[in-house]
This record gives sequence, C-alpha cells and structure tokens, in this order.
Amino acid sequence: MKVEVVEVANVLTRASGYLNDVCSHSLQPYRGCSFGRSLCGVGCYVRHNPWVTAGREWGGFLEVRRNAAESYRAHAPRERVWARKHRGRFAIFLSSATDPFLPHEARFGVTRGVLAAMADQPPDTLIVQTHSDAMLDHRDALVLLASRCDLRVHISIESDRDSLPGLPPPAVPVGRRIEAAATLRAAGLHVVVTLAPLLPIVDPDAFFARLARSCDALVIDHFIGGDGSKQGARTLRTPLPAAMESVHTGSSELAYRDEVVEVARRYFPGRVGVGAEGFAGLRLP
Ligand code: SF4
Repeated sequence: MKVEVVEVANVLTRASGYLNDVCSHSLQPYRGCSFGRSLCGVGCYVRHNPWVTAGREWGGFLEVRRNAAESYRAHAPRERVWARKHRGRFAIFLSSATDPFLPHEARFGVTRGVLAAMADQPPDTLIVQTHSDAMLDHRDALVLLASRCDLRVHISIESDRDSLPGLPPPAVPVGRRIEAAATLRAAGLHVVVTLAPLLPIVDPDAFFARLARSCDALVIDHFIGGDGSKQGARTLRTPLPAAMESVHTGSSELAYRDEVVEVARRYFPGRVGVGAEGFAGLRLP
C-alpha cells in the first residue's frame, strides 16, 4: 500500500447526496482505506468514487491528513454557523469515505487528534462509523465527547458470516466487532450496528438475539438503493452479488432487505432504521 502524508485545506466537507439528510458535514481523517482489500472493500461504495480514487486501486493507497485536527479547529466555527442556518444542526459523520480507526491510526493518530479537537469545539451531533474494534482504544475520548454532544457510535456488522465464497476475509472478525459494540455500550455510549450493505445472514434469529444484548439499535441497508447508483448498478459490476447469491438465493435483491428487517424488528422493536433514514437516526431512539 502506498502511504502519503498530506495536508488538507478544509477537513469538513458539506454533505450532499445520500448523506444530505444524515448530517451537515462528513470528515475524513484519511483518504483511501487500508481495509479496501478486505471483505467490506469489495462492496465498498467509495471504491467507485473517481474523485477519491483518482484512478488508483481501492485499498492500494492511503493519504494521511496530518493537519486534520488543526483544520477542524480552524473551520468548525464557520461551518457550525452555516450548518445551523442551512441544515438545522452541526452534525458530523466520521467517516463516510474511510475508516477512522484503520490500522495506520495507531501510527499517525490523526483521528485521535480530531476527537480531541472536537472535545474542545463539539459539534451538535457526531456519528462515528467504523468496521474496527480498534475504536476501543478511543473509548475515553468517545465517552468525553458523549458528555458534550449527541454522539452515536456505528459499528458495521453486515452479517453473522465471516466469509463469502471467493472473497477476502473481513478486516475484523464478526465476533470481535460484536464484543466491541457490547463494551462501548457498557461504557454508556449509544451504539448502533449497521448492516450496510446487508450480506446474507446464516441464522437471523440467533444473530439479532445476540446483537440485542450488544447494541441499542440497528440500521439495515441493501446495496440496491444504498450504493448511490440506480438499482445498485455500481455494486452489480463487482463480484459481491454473485458471492451473495451463491450462499443465499435472492439475497442480492431488495426484497431480501425487507425480509431481514421483519426479523430484526422482533428483537429491536421501534429500533430498526432502514436506508438513509436509518443513518440519519430517524426512527431510532
Ligand atoms: S472500512 Fe469502510 S471505507 Fe474502508 S473499505 Fe471497508 S467499507 Fe470501505
């Protein structure tokens, strides 16, 4: 993987498209993602974004935005005013195009710096989204932030499966992610597990019963409707749908999401969000 240390002009990006109703801004401490060659990278929506990849292979590059915290401190006051005027709240999604707790974070500490800057200048709402249990290393910073803003921790656990035929393994096994969710919830944080894109589940009842002991709510989204293209056209060009179908016929169709949502609602009554509405926290406690 090619790693470059760079400077970013303004680390706060005003939200648009899918994120428009979810937050006022997204914040990417890195550009690119070291998990890009793992299972989630196959169906990752960002890999199709030419503005991010600039023609580079997804998972093959990482730009470390070393001044991200400094940039947040410089731009947050102005962006807060804009957000409250135009979007109602200064709500940040960390992160939509990378993982804030990817392995390089231990070396570069960019996200750590951003969380410290946010503790000094808190947004109104902060959604922290990750695939990694390395978020546990930041538990104290997250607990502090939860006392200063409306904080939601999102942990991606798309299925109870650790593998799909022909695809790479996940960056972090399912069991470790569920344990991380439970630990953060026990620390008093509001924890949402996101199944996005939803992958075929072996035993939905057992999976949701286990998650119900580990998190507060769920968000379920299918690549159809969720990947930013018409009828999931972008994801249909990847090996993901065929791998899904090979273990569960019909799972690459939108009706599968509704089937799964129905089961999930039995374990999380009133606490299952669907699609962008779910990411926005609508219909979640
Ligand atoms: S962790 Fe997120 S951004 Fe990174 S490859 Fe996986 S889905 Fe994409």
